[in-house]
Amino acid sequence: MIYRKFGKTGIDISALGFGGMRFESSQSPEDCAMLIQAGYDAGINYFDTAPIYCNGKSEEYYGRAFAEMKKTRTQKPFYVATKTFESREPKIRRDLENSLKRLGLDCIDFYYIWCILRPEQYRERVGRGLLDAFVRLKEQGLIRHICFSTHMSGNEIEKVIYDYPFDGVLLGYSAMNFAYREMALSFAEKAKCGVAVMNPLGGGLIPQNPQRFSFLKQRQEETVVEAALRFLLNDPRITTMLVGMGKMKHLQEALSAVDGFKAIPAENIEKIRLGLKEAFNELCTGCGYCNYCPEGIPVPKLMDSYNQYLLSHKKQAIADRMKWHWEIFYRGNHLDKCTRCMQCERSCTQHLPILARFQEIQKELPN
Ligand code: SF4
Ligand code: SF4
Repeated sequence: MIYRKFGKTGIDISALGFGGMRFESSQSPEDCAMLIQAGYDAGINYFDTAPIYCNGKSEEYYGRAFAEMKKTRTQKPFYVATKTFESREPKIRRDLENSLKRLGLDCIDFYYIWCILRPEQYRERVGRGLLDAFVRLKEQGLIRHICFSTHMSGNEIEKVIYDYPFDGVLLGYSAMNFAYREMALSFAEKAKCGVAVMNPLGGGLIPQNPQRFSFLKQRQEETVVEAALRFLLNDPRITTMLVGMGKMKHLQEALSAVDGFKAIPAENIEKIRLGLKEAFNELCTGCGYCNYCPEGIPVPKLMDSYNQYLLSHKKQAIADRMKWHWEIFYRGNHLDKCTRCMQCERSCTQHLPILARFQEIQKELPN
């Protein structure tokens, strides 16, 4: 295992973090706990979860595993990250108490302000007492480090990351969107924030389309998943990459990516950048620059769903992605809310015909 310092906390964190959002309802709690323990035995020491992952079960599965892992925690430390969407102190406290109960812990190591979408939204939440509440929880020993998670672009992250001495940031980052998000890593480095990255496999698009992403491979024998994870490992500004683990094979593949990691020369990174441009000519890269629809339409999620059609050539893949991955239950007329203001198209880094794609999406949704 590779370990890296989590920003100014100085804590050694495994470069592979356990993402707890991928357990399936068909799995037994015992099996999930065993998988978590197997990750711990293999050297993973960062365990990420959230109250709503896996219909609220993720924290419970961790709680089961931690009951065993706590027996060796002094010699072999592990760290737990969970989150809250809330902004007012009583609700944050309620969330935290529920998480602690489910996890069987007295304190959360890394507590995340969850999902900051825009700097204005951050300021609004701070105005409701968000940061004061987090600071009080820290003073009371219920949380150790204050962090935030976000889908903002690099420029926007800059507006938030220096606002408070945050210990860490959680970002969506992968070989698919690195060209657009990279700047955020430099801001985090300057702010001495640890960086955890989520979605390192592009929401499953990379493993589902190995041919299309073969340009990531540095060696013949590596899988495209290994190549995508090694690409992230190559950036020392990333402390840990959270890989969603639902099965032993996910854990094994991620571990083998770390074990077989070799530094990628700068000229090869440039080749990957070029490959990215070619492969993604018509694909949404998930950069999130269009995520400010005045009507609240989640454009990046819809364009990601359209990606599934482009990659699979099956129209049904659009509705499936919306329903099963993003949990968007639109009917066909929902997109009528779009006023065609063009704001999203104008900000699209890929110059995608978003509105034309909406029409195609609309046809695939139930009436
Ligand atoms: S064109 Fe439609 S989807 Fe795009 S920002 Fe305007 S209202 Fe939202
Ligand atoms: S639609 Fe364009 S701007 Fe929006 S997330 Fe996709 S690539 Fe980025």
